[in-house]
Amino acid sequence: MVEKLLSDYTINQWKDEKPVLKSISELKNVFWVNSLKPEFEEAMKRVHLSARDVKEAEERLERFAAFIRVAFPETEETNGLIESDLDEINEIKKDLESLYKVDIPGKLMLKRDDSLPIAGTIKARGAIYEVLKHAETLALNEGMLNSIHEDYSIFASEEFKEFFSQYKLVVGTTGNLGISVGVMGSKLGFEVMVHMSHDAKEWKKELLRSRGVEVVEHKTNFTMAVERGRDQSNEDANSYFVDDEHSIELLLGYSVAASRFAKQLEKQNIIVDAEHPLFLYLPCGIGGSPGGITFGMKQVYGDNVHCFFAEPTHMPSMLLGLITQAYDGVSVIDFEIEDKTIMDGLAVPRTSGFVSRLLENFFSGGYTLQEEEANCWLSKMMDIEKINLEPAALAGLVGPSYLMSTKEGQEYIKQHHLETFMENATHVVWATGGSMVPKEDQTIAYETGQSIDLEAFLSQK
Ligand SMILES: *Cc1c(COP(=O)(O)O)cnc(C)c1O
Repeated sequence: MVEKLLSDYTINQWKDEKPVLKSISELKNVFWVNSLKPEFEEAMKRVHLSARDVKEAEERLERFAAFIRVAFPETEETNGLIESDLDEINEIKKDLESLYKVDIPGKLMLKRDDSLPIAGTIKARGAIYEVLKHAETLALNEGMLNSIHEDYSIFASEEFKEFFSQYKLVVGTTGNLGISVGVMGSKLGFEVMVHMSHDAKEWKKELLRSRGVEVVEHKTNFTMAVERGRDQSNEDANSYFVDDEHSIELLLGYSVAASRFAKQLEKQNIIVDAEHPLFLYLPCGIGGSPGGITFGMKQVYGDNVHCFFAEPTHMPSMLLGLITQAYDGVSVIDFEIEDKTIMDGLAVPRTSGFVSRLLENFFSGGYTLQEEEANCWLSKMMDIEKINLEPAALAGLVGPSYLMSTKEGQEYIKQHHLETFMENATHVVWATGGSMVPKEDQTIAYETGQSIDLEAFLSQK
């Protein structure tokens, strides 16, 4: 268990200063705008990471494309790049408008990271990048590779596999990070050990075991599973810990999405500029994936992209961290919020200090959604768009409705002088996982969602 560490006095004082914290602790839907975010140019002066770091990550993935293509033939079509489609979702937009009783001007699109090759979730961007970078470093340091200009398909050789088998990768996870690290790590030849929190789904454990990955099950939440993994890894000099709470590499791996996304928009003749705003709605767990994608998108679009993160009402850890400015010094347990959600990919009770401090400069804001909303939209996504997502991946979908229907959202639009340009807006909902969910699990989630009367649920709120 993550324990309550902060006093009632502190919590109550915060609630008095910032009433939105009271709503959050009462599990109400909130839409919060980050008033501390400076303009992009100023933001970049305040942080240590730069466009150069994103570019380097991009180049590293290009080097590894030759290996990925050989090791994972499903990436043949994209020449070894792990990438997903960007599609318009017009039909479900109508349902969002009628259920939330709001007009959503502009285009509504879905970024299909649910179908990313190799690992089927957004983690395939960050985690696979970090594993590859570590493999590259080892290969260079130990003379397996002479320079970064060699043909990286050599990473698929038996010789390299044998070399990497001396080394270990360890990770703590609610599931999906473990799958990405496990699948790529074991393909390269690493011994992989995955520490899983109580939220982890059984099928995720089974999938990993089938790839020869050792799964350590914990009866505790994500924060504790990560701690155990880190402790264990630190005891072994040949072990490397993929640290979801502190990893710059993960964040940079995610950030590479941006330049590729920009090409996809261009291909579809979609403009982004001051009169054609781009809104992103990003499911948020520890913050690495929404953070990295936001950081990358800002390098491309500057102040013309508006990035909002989405969290379950039962796991508002990034919101609490940013609103209190205590960052990783506050958890949902401190606010006596029950840390349980069907959106298992977002089941993180305490945010990352590194990510929250960095992204305070870039996130436009964030919001929460209820369990019933995620579940019901999961079924509707299936019925209307024929797309199967896992619960966490629905968190972004309600974003445009809340931007348009809340007082806070409307003020944001006014403050940024966007009222007259909303017709030109592009709203991108980032779908973060789903294609690997087994049929039985899919069916259960779908049927549960179908049994929810969202109209009645929303009218009671
Ligand atoms: C991990 C995950 C997220 C959120 O990413 P973080 O880096 O934890 O913020 C969203 N959706 C799914 C399906 C995930 O697995």
